[in-house]
Amino acid sequence: MNLPLIDRASEYADNIAIVATGGVFTYRDLLHTSGQIATGLLQNADDLQEQRVAYLIPSGFEYVATQWGIWRAGGIAVPLCTVHPRPELEYVITNAGASMIIAHPDFAEILRPIAQSHNLRFVLTSDLVAESSDDRLPTIEMTRRALILYTSGTTGKPKGVVTTHQQIQAQVTSLIAAWEWTADDRILHVLPLHHIHGIINVLTCALWAGAQCHMLAKFDAETIWNRIGVGELTLFMAVPTIYVKLINAWEAMDRDCQQHLSAGCANIRLMVSGSAALPVTVLEKWQEIGSHFLLERYGMTEIGMALSNPLHGDRSAGSVGTPLPQVSVRLVDDNGALVPPGTPGEIQVKSHGVFLEYWQNPAATAKAFQSGWFWTGDLAVVEHGNYRILGRISVDIIKTGGYKVSALEIEEVLRLHPDIQECAVVGVEDPEWGERVCAAIVLQPSRQLTLASLRSWAKEQLAVYKVPTQIVVIAELPRNVMGKVTKPPVVELFRSS
Ligand code: AMP
Repeated sequence: MNLPLIDRASEYADNIAIVATGGVFTYRDLLHTSGQIATGLLQNADDLQEQRVAYLIPSGFEYVATQWGIWRAGGIAVPLCTVHPRPELEYVITNAGASMIIAHPDFAEILRPIAQSHNLRFVLTSDLVAESSDDRLPTIEMTRRALILYTSGTTGKPKGVVTTHQQIQAQVTSLIAAWEWTADDRILHVLPLHHIHGIINVLTCALWAGAQCHMLAKFDAETIWNRIGVGELTLFMAVPTIYVKLINAWEAMDRDCQQHLSAGCANIRLMVSGSAALPVTVLEKWQEIGSHFLLERYGMTEIGMALSNPLHGDRSAGSVGTPLPQVSVRLVDDNGALVPPGTPGEIQVKSHGVFLEYWQNPAATAKAFQSGWFWTGDLAVVEHGNYRILGRISVDIIKTGGYKVSALEIEEVLRLHPDIQECAVVGVEDPEWGERVCAAIVLQPSRQLTLASLRSWAKEQLAVYKVPTQIVVIAELPRNVMGKVTKPPVVELFRSS
């Protein structure tokens, strides 16, 4: 028996699977090359038996064939991040206990020394695809571990999140049902491939559905617009910062060009945003530019996707909708008791898509679950039947003067100020207030802003205890590779000032 993903690929053998810089590849090509890679990885073994295989390959056909090759050989795929420096790559490789590293020749220089210093097998993708394929690949049970993705580690060392084939299947089939993926879909893949959004929501959903995945080797707003302008895409998924970059690029174009690209955008059947809060200002601008009310969804590496606005029917700005098919979600207080609608609570999730364990960290795994429910560490509130995310409890929920306030809510309001382009609100310890509300602000070009004028404006919009007591103006917000604002360095800005 094969993995269902592989069986399905045989059914779609003649369909185009991947369109990338290297060419156009069918599902048959993917089956053939991943078979070669699996054979090359096995050498003469029968089964990799969940050995961890780390790999660093740019977005494209070889990336996908390698991931499938690892799975078909019985290994656990550990994708690395193309822009991580050596210490971070080394951390993931050693934490996962990888026994081998597969590198695209572009990354050989950085990875070969790591392999040598830890005595690991090192292979180039080009060597693996030169192998002939063996038909006798192992049988892989769905309960076996498939993937380890590392959390971004904003509040500690990154943890390896382990998912099995069965859990990946549950994550993917839930999204396929909710967003009605079919083999006729064509998606443009513009996301990093070491993170759940790019790996599961875009790549694996597309391949499960027998659809086409058009992969860009690197992010470039103009290239993305050109592809949208062709008018053949049916789906697009990105993080909010990508939509911001696309808006900026669109605004810099001439009128004819704008009209042409907007028409291409209107041809897409669904555009999704997630992985960070989508500012309502961005959602509204995108509606103007692309005639799309972006579908915002919520999920995390540990759970896959949990909440989504509807594909059909009314979407609500600033909200992430309701639970996805086959996913149970509830909100609880600090003691684990359910909270009623309108009261903020921590999001708990239970589904067949929730991860198996943190890699070799049973204490962290045990702490994260209670009676089968996973504690997400995110706070939300249900309003008019829809969930609204208030932020990560560890960094976005500020305890000030006896109140708990949501940094995301304050940011949403501050972004409405005419002089503010972007902002990040944090809590900074304070002997009197517990924490003070502080805001790092990126101004609109050639604007200035004083704390006093911001405060008097903000008091009209927010309860006084939510109004920032200190601001710092910076050129750019610190972000991780997924485009998410990293809050600990923002807190440091205020500590040091
Ligand atoms: P990651 O595991 O890297 O995908 O990060 C997951 C975290 O991103 C969640 O725990 C949330 O804090 C945040 N997140 C994901 N989607 C959203 C969203 N739509 N709105 C606000 N925060 C989000």
